[in-house]
Amino acid sequence: DAELAGETDEDLMARPPVVTVMGHVDHGKTKLLDAIRSTDVVAGEAGGITQHIGAYQIWTEHEGHDRALTFIDTPGHEAFTAMRARGADVTDIAILVVAADDGVMPQTVEALNHAQSAGVPIVVAVNKVDKEAANPAKIRQQLTEYNLVAEEYGGDTMFVDVSALQRMGIDDLLEAVLLTADAALDLRANPDKDARGVAIEANLDKGRGTVATVLVQSGTLHVGDAIVAGTAHGRVRAMFDEHGVPVEEAGPARPVQVLGLTSVPRAGDSFIVAGDDRTARQIADKRAAAERAATLAKRRKRVSLEDFTEALQQGRVETLNLVLKGDVSGAVEALEDSLLKIEVGDEVALRIIHRGVGAITQNDVNLATVDNAIIIGFNVKPAERVTELADREGVDIRYYSVIYQAIDDVEQALKGMLKPEYEEVQLGTAEVRQVFRSSKVGNIAGSIVRSGTIRRNTKARVLRDGVVVGENVTIDSLRREKDDVTEVREGFECGISLGSFNDITEGDVIETFEMREKPRK
Ligand code: GDP
Repeated sequence: DAELAGETDEDLMARPPVVTVMGHVDHGKTKLLDAIRSTDVVAGEAGGITQHIGAYQIWTEHEGHDRALTFIDTPGHEAFTAMRARGADVTDIAILVVAADDGVMPQTVEALNHAQSAGVPIVVAVNKVDKEAANPAKIRQQLTEYNLVAEEYGGDTMFVDVSALQRMGIDDLLEAVLLTADAALDLRANPDKDARGVAIEANLDKGRGTVATVLVQSGTLHVGDAIVAGTAHGRVRAMFDEHGVPVEEAGPARPVQVLGLTSVPRAGDSFIVAGDDRTARQIADKRAAAERAATLAKRRKRVSLEDFTEALQQGRVETLNLVLKGDVSGAVEALEDSLLKIEVGDEVALRIIHRGVGAITQNDVNLATVDNAIIIGFNVKPAERVTELADREGVDIRYYSVIYQAIDDVEQALKGMLKPEYEEVQLGTAEVRQVFRSSKVGNIAGSIVRSGTIRRNTKARVLRDGVVVGENVTIDSLRREKDDVTEVREGFECGISLGSFNDITEGDVIETFEMREKPRK
């Protein structure tokens, strides 16, 4: 273990396990985290008000000793994926919550896939056992299919029946987590050195500046330490625990809120202690420069369908991983069905790692980053900051409005014969501010150009919350003030008429593009 290198056994002290709660939406993750928090044997004594700081530690009695556990309290496994995409594996153990009245659902499978691929042991919390429709035995049976075999069936996964609502079974669950941790992991760290760890979440507070919740992974963090977190730096001005109580120091597996960073780090950014302010700034600057360089390098080695074709042609065996997003569930299902029916040789495989309805999100890009996947959007597109993330991470997002074209492209890629001919080049986007309805000249969309340039007579589409609502439209006329113009640039207002498309609504985004021949590599 690299972390333990150069340290003698005596330097290492046992540290609490870091636990993440994952599971399908509405299966009770939030309630369970609340219930766990309420069992803390020292919470009352601290006297502070419990705050949401993105992670918390509780103490529980285990085999006659007081033991601490650290819980990451950020919503869902999206944070888990986001952190992994940054290379941060903070979780030692995952609690997989499954509602006993609902059973294994898509996000249950996603969550357990994430945990398994990260090599994180799982404890299953079978929740909502207070409900009449609860069938805990069925959950055990269902999960057997995913290599989670309950101890009582001869496997090595602990299943615990709980009711987060009635706060029943919580002690047993904590017990199971500690037993699993003790059996499967060697959780030790050296507290007697400069701290290092990971930012769990961070935001900018008007009064207090950057407020970052960090998890110390080794060493001890002190008030007054100069630190670098990602590309942010600063001096720890104050630290607070999950009860809002000021603390002077924080050791391994301790989450604390830190004040004093000059900018906001991202979830999953690692932090280290630097000798002094100047060194901290230098490291931060270096990291920022390295990040820019890495972004450029990634952009050049973007994983695309074309690369896949090339890999096949060169005889390199590969799996094509896809993320499917569509505007309606019927389309996503049809796409998935057809894609899985594509007949390919034994040497290639197609794996759909995630599918969903709605705009392409940051989580989709993070999933694609972790698994080197390509995103296929059917009538859906990403928001602008998602595109930026995809660019940074080198994730290829392909957009289709005709299902068979998507299938065709994937099939060609799988057969090593994809010939890209044309690609879409975005020219500009405009946001609709106000719509002027007119039966004579058609509707005019009073808009502001958000990026690039909007030109008359170019192809366009209309997006509403990232979903395409108008395809194959043209910028029919373009006006600035009272004048007809041929183009309007970023930052300027204009009136756009889309001829055939009459459903334009305030808040819609008009995106214009042209098709250009793709340069051959
Ligand atoms: P999350 O989306 O996984 O965070 O789920 P929540 O914690 O928000 O819970 C979803 C719903 O299930 C809420 O209405 C909860 O009150 C309810 N719920 C959670 N745990 C239990 C439980 O143990 N028993 C019952 N009956 N309801 C529960």
